[in-house]
Amino acid sequence: MKKSKSIQYLVNEILRNYHLCDFCIGRLISNELDLKPSSNLGKKFNSKTKKSELRKCFICKNIFENFDQVVTHMIESSSSYQFSTFLIGSILKPSVSDNEDIIRSKFKLKGAVNIKNQINHEIGKKFARKTKSKLDTTNPEITLKINFKDNSCKIHSRSLFMYGRYTKRKRNLPQKQTPCKNCQGKGCFSCDFHGLENFNSVEGQIAKFVIGKFNSKQVKINWIGGEDKASLISGNGRPFFVKISEPRIRRLRIKKQNELNGIKLHDLRQIKNQPIDSVPFRSKVVVLVKSELPLQNNLLKKLLIVKNNPLVIKNQGERIVKKSIYDFKYKKLNSNTLKISMVVDGGVPLKSFIENSNVQPNVTELLQNRCTCVQFDFKQIDVMNSSFRN
Ligand SMILES: [Zn+2]
Ligand SMILES: [Zn+2]
Repeated sequence: MKKSKSIQYLVNEILRNYHLCDFCIGRLISNELDLKPSSNLGKKFNSKTKKSELRKCFICKNIFENFDQVVTHMIESSSSYQFSTFLIGSILKPSVSDNEDIIRSKFKLKGAVNIKNQINHEIGKKFARKTKSKLDTTNPEITLKINFKDNSCKIHSRSLFMYGRYTKRKRNLPQKQTPCKNCQGKGCFSCDFHGLENFNSVEGQIAKFVIGKFNSKQVKINWIGGEDKASLISGNGRPFFVKISEPRIRRLRIKKQNELNGIKLHDLRQIKNQPIDSVPFRSKVVVLVKSELPLQNNLLKKLLIVKNNPLVIKNQGERIVKKSIYDFKYKKLNSNTLKISMVVDGGVPLKSFIENSNVQPNVTELLQNRCTCVQFDFKQIDVMNSSFRN
């Protein structure tokens, strides 16, 4: 009771110098009374202000009175998004926080809740009620950024992730897509903001499919291994992860298998997050090799030493990587053509293994015969990580 009296005295003191609304009074004194800030609390102590009074609050310029309108605008802006949790952020005119600081320091008022927090809280309550969604401060599905300077509302939707595999039965389809020439992949009007020049690649086909399904802006694909544009991929397919940016659709039943142009998607599913570290894998590949000179049977046998012996790869900057070949078979198709079937660690540069000396041993050196890699196809790709092994 005594405390309440001294607070009343303080409020009167403030109001003698400044006009404040109930929300701002309630917030400023809430800490002193150990109560939650509210307009009701302010009203209890605000003996001065009558409803008819037209003066604006010194701190907030009566911002709290317009919240119905703000929430209506937020509902319109977020209407095309599927969400059940949200977070609100707001940008205020600097004078609002400045004026709050003036009062606080002048009347020595401490408080945990500042005006921004209270605005976000009050708007959040209304928005939650009207949209039947929940405030989530740690991992919200959408974040609404309200700018009180220009009355705009921007939505950011949390990224989604997918895992899948693709098989490819059409040669001359590159794996990666060239980025939009106009924006270098950032996203612009001319590429409809997806950042791709067109969809004539594995990446383009996956991106087009995923963007369509999730009504998202852009996708970023994280590949498990790479291939040539002439390579075919059969068996269980090449695994990949997709990060889906700014999805409007979040809850979707997606078919596990999907036939696209030149590729087929398998095992598609949403995952919580993509792996941060590189994912180890092994590939079963069939490589077609042409030799400059006729192939000699006695030298061909030497190729078998690559099996269960380390492959030493000297990368740029002399960084040395060791990889393994687990299975190795060859077949002479004619005097200058060789077919190699092997199971090899992910990350082995297959063309270099045939042609170059930055891989030791390599086919050209073992056969003492300049060899070129004509094409390589993937028959099976196995991820050595239990969560994605299917
Ligand atoms: Zn106010
Ligand atoms: Zn563009």
